Amino acid sequence: MHSLFGVCQVSHYRSVFRDETKLDINYVPHRLPHRDRELRLLMEFFSFLLQFPERMAQRVLITGDVGTGKTALSQRFGADMSREAGKQGKNFRYVHVNCREYHGSLFLILQHVVSVFHPNFPQRGYSAEELLRIVMQILDEENVYVILALDEFGSMVEREGSDAVYQLTRLQEVRQNKPQRLSLICILRNLNLISKLDASTRSTLQSNIINLERYSKQQLVDILNDRVSSAFKLSAVPEDTVNLIAELASSESGNARFGIELLWRAGKYANVEDLDTVTPECARKAVSSIVPTMRKSDLALLGFHEKLFLLGIARLFKQGQKASATLSEAEQAYAIACEEYDVKPNSHTQLWKYLKSLAATDIVRTEVSTTGSRGRSTLICLPRIPAHELERELKDILEKGEG
Ligand code: ADP
Ligand code: MG
Repeated sequence: MHSLFGVCQVSHYRSVFRDETKLDINYVPHRLPHRDRELRLLMEFFSFLLQFPERMAQRVLITGDVGTGKTALSQRFGADMSREAGKQGKNFRYVHVNCREYHGSLFLILQHVVSVFHPNFPQRGYSAEELLRIVMQILDEENVYVILALDEFGSMVEREGSDAVYQLTRLQEVRQNKPQRLSLICILRNLNLISKLDASTRSTLQSNIINLERYSKQQLVDILNDRVSSAFKLSAVPEDTVNLIAELASSESGNARFGIELLWRAGKYANVEDLDTVTPECARKAVSSIVPTMRKSDLALLGFHEKLFLLGIARLFKQGQKASATLSEAEQAYAIACEEYDVKPNSHTQLWKYLKSLAATDIVRTEVSTTGSRGRSTLICLPRIPAHELERELKDILEKGEG
């Protein structure tokens, strides 16, 4: 069965992959090349938790561009830490929440946290504040210590502003004489978002910052090679291909996610063409098939009206040959999209918020124009996503009724 001949007899289908799941976006690798130092630092920040968990709650910020390994780092840490705590017989949980999946709502995020411990907890009838108390009560009852990782933390700051974040960070101070239960890891792209919070919330958050630099081309080569050896059959991916993919990912601002997605797609092209090896040509095909930095899952996470708003924007750029559009043009296009989907358009203020959050996720870019006849106005650009593609994707998602 181990001979090649045997394999060919068993299956007509040849594959360059050994284990495709190792290329899945949610897979957390055991090793994170070029993040050893950061992982150790994170361990260091929380090391007291293993000794005296009740004495102090920790807060750490992880920042860095898309694909610099923020999520992977935090999850690797969470798994390592849980294992270590388990060995020492400590009752300890790492809970990872992508805030964007909960539309940045503190209430929904807390509901999720409660459900981690009590899956059947009644969902209705509580305010966010009450839920916060309930969470702490549960942790006390179960005598458990939690590190809550708030991934895509920016979406919560955008949605909730200072108050909610303040509540969360000051939680321990109102629980005098009780053990410290809840530590936080806040993960976000850019510290600028934090500047929106009031000074005291900011200062409680900013004490420990781990900033992840973009990967260099050589670092990406190492990361990709690691994945190649676990996901592909021996010698299926030549060095040239890895180099090319690293080059592409490095020009995509050192984005490891982009690199790994390219690697996976290149493998798919090799399979389709019945090749034994993933040639550089496969990688080129892969790159032209990818819409950089946009994933369908990113779009699906947008709210219904955000999708309509973005649909309007996509159409603006599809029709004309222009490089930018004004907010009022976008507003009109959005109104038309609302009509089409038979909903009442949201207010100008609301659109303004959508625009900011779309800009925060890099889907659109905004600029302030000072040359217009009426002074300063906001210009919207679509930097990297082909408008046709964006429109098609959004219509797909909207039509599936996932709004
Ligand atoms: P971010 O959260 O910063 O956008 P991710 O943590 O999602 O980035 O990383 C993107 C992809 O790259 C994931 O598939 C992740 O496993 C992988 N990755 C990132 N950094 C490394 C690394 N140092 N070693 C191995 N894989 C990595
Ligand atoms: Mg992430």
